Formats: sequence, structure tokens, C-alpha cells
Amino acid sequence: SDCWASGSSDSITSSGSESDGHLYKVILLGERGVGKTSLARIFGGVEDGPEAEAAGNTYDRSIVVDGEEASLMVFDIWEQDESQWLSNHCMKMGDAYVIVYSVTDKVSFEKASELRIQLRRARQSEDIPIILVGNKSDLVRSREVSVDEGRACAVVFDCKFIETSAALHHNVQDLFEGIVRQIRLRKDSKED
Ligand code: GDP
Repeated sequence: SDCWASGSSDSITSSGSESDGHLYKVILLGERGVGKTSLARIFGGVEDGPEAEAAGNTYDRSIVVDGEEASLMVFDIWEQDESQWLSNHCMKMGDAYVIVYSVTDKVSFEKASELRIQLRRARQSEDIPIILVGNKSDLVRSREVSVDEGRACAVVFDCKFIETSAALHHNVQDLFEGIVRQIRLRKDSKED
């Protein structure tokens, strides 16, 4: 299920925002309950207790990827039915998107496809990085979406794919490193 080669396990640093000067906005999308907040909090390094509550729903952190620092601002603000304004805003503001479903919930997987279509519509001619994430890979017995189905969906939707387990911290770091690489790839090709 590992779609990316694993990086070193401790390259997430909590150093401020000294980097190439860019702060990349990453938006988490997906049904309620699929694990967006859990993934965001692992990224932010604020999993439990008052720290987690104080963090609100945006997580700002610098990570070192391939020897270079990058700053990400991760937004866990998606609520599909809350307000039309908010969903439109989410679809417009991101530099990259993480579309999360739960491998134990087929409906959330179908929802992920809808979100991909919505995103394509909102950002028509833009080539924004999108990662499809099948979370809760630890729940083997209640799995409803296979790795192959997830991967096939990502091929159809022309985006990256990874399975994660927020519960086991499996692949969570790879996910965020992958986002940085995707952003850089596009930036580099624009500069050439
Ligand atoms: P959100 O609504 O998408 O933000 O989802 P949450 O992060 O609040 O997670 C919903 C529930 O699923 C919580 O009870 C989490 O503890 C649980 N959960 C999240 N990720 C995982 C995972 O990878 N494995 C398991 N077993 N449970 C998870």
C-alpha cells in the first residue's frame, strides 16, 4: 500500500517558518469521520489535550523534505453542508488538496470522487496537486474499499494516492512530504 518511498522518520521539525519564503496552503476535504482532524493533528504535532484544542483547525508547520525546508499551513475547515460560501472558499484558496476517505466506508470513497469533480470544476485550467488518501488502513476487518480500488480511482482522477492510518501514524508523514514534492514539481516546471 506504500505508494511513496518512505523518507526518514524524523524530518518533521517544529522550527518556525524560515524556509523558501512560501507558505503553502493545504486543504483537507472529505466526509465527516474519515480522519481529517486526526491527520491534521499528527501533522501539527498536537494530538491530545489542551494543546490540540488550542490549535483550532489550522496547523502551521515547517518540514524538511529532500533537504529543503517547506512551510505548510494545513486547514481542517471543510464541512460540506455547513455553508455554500465556505465550500466555495475552500475550493478556491488551496495550493494543494488532500481528499480523505475511510477505507472502512464505501460512501466516503464515493464522496471523494464527487469532491474531486467539484474541485476540477472550481479550478478548471489549473494543475493543482491533489492527493487521494484512504485512511484507517489499520481497520483490516472492516475494510470496504480495497487498495486497488483506491489506486484505480486516483488514476482516473489523475492524482496521487496513499493509504494512511492516523491511529498507527502509518504513512502520515509520507503524505505531507508527498504534498510538498507535488507542489515543488509544479513550481519547478513553471520556472523552466
Ligand atoms: P474528521 O471528521 O474527518 O475530522 O475525522 P476525525 O479525525 O475526527 O476522526 C473520526 C474518528 O475516527 C475518531 O474517532 C478517530 O479517532 C477515528 N480515526 C481517525 N483516523 C483513524 C485511523 O486511521 N484508524 C482508526 N482505527 N480510527 C481512526
